[in-house]
Amino acid sequence: MSDVIVVGGGPAGLSAALFTAKNGLSTTVFDTDGTWMHKAHLFNYLGIGSVDGSAFLETARAQVDSFGVERHEAEVTSVERTDDGFAVTVDGETHESAYLVLATGANRDLAEALGCAFDGDLVAVDVTMETSVEDAYATGAMVRAEEWQAVISAGDGAAAALNVLSKERGDHYHDFDVPADAEAVGELLTDEGDE
Ligand SMILES: Cc1cc2nc3c(=O)[nH]c(=O)nc-3n(C[C@H](O)[C@H](O)[C@H](O)COP(=O)(O)OP(=O)(O)OC[C@H]3O[C@@H](n4cnc5c(N)ncnc54)[C@H](O)[C@@H]3O)c2cc1C
Repeated sequence: MSDVIVVGGGPAGLSAALFTAKNGLSTTVFDTDGTWMHKAHLFNYLGIGSVDGSAFLETARAQVDSFGVERHEAEVTSVERTDDGFAVTVDGETHESAYLVLATGANRDLAEALGCAFDGDLVAVDVTMETSVEDAYATGAMVRAEEWQAVISAGDGAAAALNVLSKERGDHYHDFDVPADAEAVGELLTDEGDE
């Protein structure tokens, strides 16, 4: 049982996973590595001058791994609501979580199967990216018609994760760090890397 299961490991899914894992929620990502990022070169991601999409992904994967995200290259074939949260099927095995973040790019099949409401062809979400199914979020290309950009997907994932964290903490949550935190986080990541 994870606190959060993320389906899809592009910018939306990895961003959601980064925020939840960094803030103490056990987080599992399943991804089939079909992300459009492998075709892209970014000149329009604020704060990053120019980067190959696959190189960006490599950094993002290392970043989430360093915060303890459990990542698996595997296809999720079904998702269901349960009494306690969600049951996700991967290779015939069931994995459970309290929260579900869908980040499957332009593929909306799992959201449809889960019973999420749609607005035309798009999964309907509120500003926190929560769908009509409580505690299920939809992020990135699946909630947008054509207006697809990596930085927007990453923002959607972050918004979903902060809402999950707000629910867990019982108050509006933000993930602010200051320069003094850098050393402590650096040591933590180095220690984990040594294990
Ligand atoms: C040629 C090209 C150039 C581009 N150039 C730019 C650019 O310059 N700047 C920019 O900002 N954006 C660019 N983009 C768009 C950018 O790549 C997308 O906006 C971004 O990748 C969307 O992120 P996402 O996380 O929503 O979805 P994706 O990156 O598509 O990730 C979805 C992931 O979910 C996985 N998945 C789907 N279904 C399942 C399942 N059932 N189980 C497990 N995993 C699943 C997929 O394999 C994939 O890895 C470009 C796209 C293309 C095609």
